[in-house]
Parts: sequence; structure tokens; C-alpha cells
Amino acid sequence: MTLLDPAPTTLTPRLELHVPTALTRFRQLRAALPGTAIHYAVKANPHPVLLRALVAAGSGFDVASPAEVRACLEAGARADDLVYSNPIKLRADIVSAAGLGVRLFVVDSPEETRKVAEAAPGSAVLCRIVTSGSGSDWPLSRKYGCSTSEAVEVLRLAAGLGLDPAGVSFHVGSQQRDPSAWDTPIEASSRVFAALRQAGLRPWLLDLGGGFPAALEGGAPALDAYGAAIRRSLRKRFGSRRPRTIIEPGRSVVADSGRLVTSVVAVVHRGDTRWVYLDAGVFTGLVETLDEAIRYRLETDVDGPTGPCVLAGPTCDSADVLYEKQPVHLPLALTEGDRVVLTSAGAYTTCYSTVGFNGFAPLPTELVLGLVPA
Ligand SMILES: *Cc1c(COP(=O)(O)O)cnc(C)c1O
Repeated sequence: MTLLDPAPTTLTPRLELHVPTALTRFRQLRAALPGTAIHYAVKANPHPVLLRALVAAGSGFDVASPAEVRACLEAGARADDLVYSNPIKLRADIVSAAGLGVRLFVVDSPEETRKVAEAAPGSAVLCRIVTSGSGSDWPLSRKYGCSTSEAVEVLRLAAGLGLDPAGVSFHVGSQQRDPSAWDTPIEASSRVFAALRQAGLRPWLLDLGGGFPAALEGGAPALDAYGAAIRRSLRKRFGSRRPRTIIEPGRSVVADSGRLVTSVVAVVHRGDTRWVYLDAGVFTGLVETLDEAIRYRLETDVDGPTGPCVLAGPTCDSADVLYEKQPVHLPLALTEGDRVVLTSAGAYTTCYSTVGFNGFAPLPTELVLGLVPA
């Protein structure tokens, strides 16, 4: 075995993925939002078995690169069921995606609209509007999204360039704990739709993005509450002129279907502080612990009283610390070789695992057939 060979999956760290749980979550989302098409965000977890199962369940997909387009097509999806939602794209990637049959792209600027018009002539575009991201654990604002008046200009430009100005897209931030967070961008979208209609255009699609929560620390309302709030908002803001709607959930579909199994490398006392080092860290799938934004629940078989500790990863980089500002509580008897499991870790872990950082192998996935405890 060389330094960069993936570890055999009986070893730790590993992600245990239970695809039936993801399908259950997919169906719960569909029941919460009847009439809204689901486009699973592939970046959350691109495992081919998961993608095939979602195709069979009737899912569409949200993709951001030609590799993700190909992964969906290989899983059996039709190109018509894909939305290419990365607002900033390499020109060559637009050409590749269009060549594979993708017809719907997200933009958020006149520059990118012209690029799509040249690289994928005649395709449809959604314009992404900015949101505050407040209420979410992992905000996605600032980097993407324009104002409503800019969106009207972008979509009018699109029409003038021979594209189909399909409508508006937004994302309220990931692990959004507030079901009412969709109302402000839905209201803003309704103003864009009205302005476009006044200009003689016919927008028809509203992309409500992702953001639906998983069972991470701190809890969140049930998916039904999100569906009810969004349906209420659509009724209030669009009335009888409700456009077609889609959502792009990633985390809420796949997070709860995964458990990241780690082993304790060492427990070290530095002054009054107990440091627990795991064999998985920021560079082995846990990038969302940056700024302690996403807080996983922890499980261990070790019994006895617990106490606070700093939790860190195995690499030699000082950024590889998971939780320090807000310490975690683990058994005082925890020691080298014990297992610590991070639950609801199926999203944004294997795909963000760095190949070979410090010689640590990327995080492998093991498909599990047994029941995953809720
Ligand atoms: C990442 C992403 C998603 C998925 O977001 P979740 O919060 O995981 O549901 C959806 N849409 C876009 C454009 C994204 O970038």
C-alpha cells in the first residue's frame, strides 16, 4: 500500500451511507411540496448508487460542472431533468454541458448571460437573486446573486440574445432553520416576474433552491413546516399566476443517511484543556466545521461521565480543528482507538475530502444495508 492508496473500508475514517434513508427524505420533501419538482444538488454527495436510486424515484438534478452532468446521465437521468446552477461558468464547460443536452442554466450578471448566449445559444436561463442568508448555518449569499432590478435587466438582455428568460432562482442559505426565510425572496421574485410580463416576456419557472435542514445539533422544524410556509408564500405573492416551481435540496436529502465513523488518535491534556484528536478532520471530509458553522452530533460507545474537550483532526495543519470556541462533551474515559461517530454526515463530506493532504487518504464510502438509527 502506498501513501495515497484509499484505506480499506473496514478501517476508519469512513462514511457509512444508507441510501434508503436518503430516498425516505426525498419522499418526505416531495410530500411537503406537492407539484414542485425536486432537483437533487449533486455536490452534496455524488455517490453513483445514490444518484441511480434518486433517478428511479423520479428526481431531477442540480449540477455545477460537466463531470456532474455526466454522473447524472450515467445514473440514467435525462439531460432535460438537469439545471446547471453554477452562476459563474468556464466557457468550455457551458459548451460541454450544452453538448450533453443541458438546456437550463443559471446566470446572475450580463457578462455571464452573454457567455451562455454564445456558448449554448437558444437555451433557457434563470437569474439568481441575492438573499440575506440569515437563519442559516452555512450562508451562500454575497458570492452569487443580483438585485431584483438587475435581474429584470439580465433577463431582458437574455431575451434579446435569443435565450428563453425562464425566471428566477435563489438560495436562502444551507441548513436554514427558519421556514419563513423563503418569503422575502419569493416576494422579490414575484416583482421580477411582474416587471418581465410588463415588458412582454413570459417567465415560467421559479427555482426555490436548497437550504432544507438535516438533523444536526440544535434541531430544526420538520420538512412539512417548510412546505406549508413556502406554499403559503407562493399563494400570497403569486396568487393565481403561480409559475412552475423546483427545489434543489442537497443536505436535506442525503445528510441523515450518512454516519462518519472515526477513531481517536490521541487524547492530550494541554493545561486545563483536554484535546481529542480524531482520524478525520477538516481535510478528510469535515470542511463544513470551518468557523464551527456546521455542528455534527457525536456518538460513542464509551460509557461514564462526560466533560468538555476541543475536537481536532489528524493533519499537521493548525486549521484542522473542528470545535474549540464551543467545545464538545465526550466521555472522560475516551482514549486512543475508541470510535467516535459523527451523525447526519452524508452531505458535503466525501466530496470535500482532499486527496492526499499530508498523506492522509481521502474519505471512503461504505454502503450499508442495515438500518441506520434515526
Ligand atoms: C449547494 C447548492 C444547493 C444545495 O443546498 P442545500 O442547502 O444542501 O440544500 C442548491 N442549489 C445551489 C445553487 C447550490 O449551490
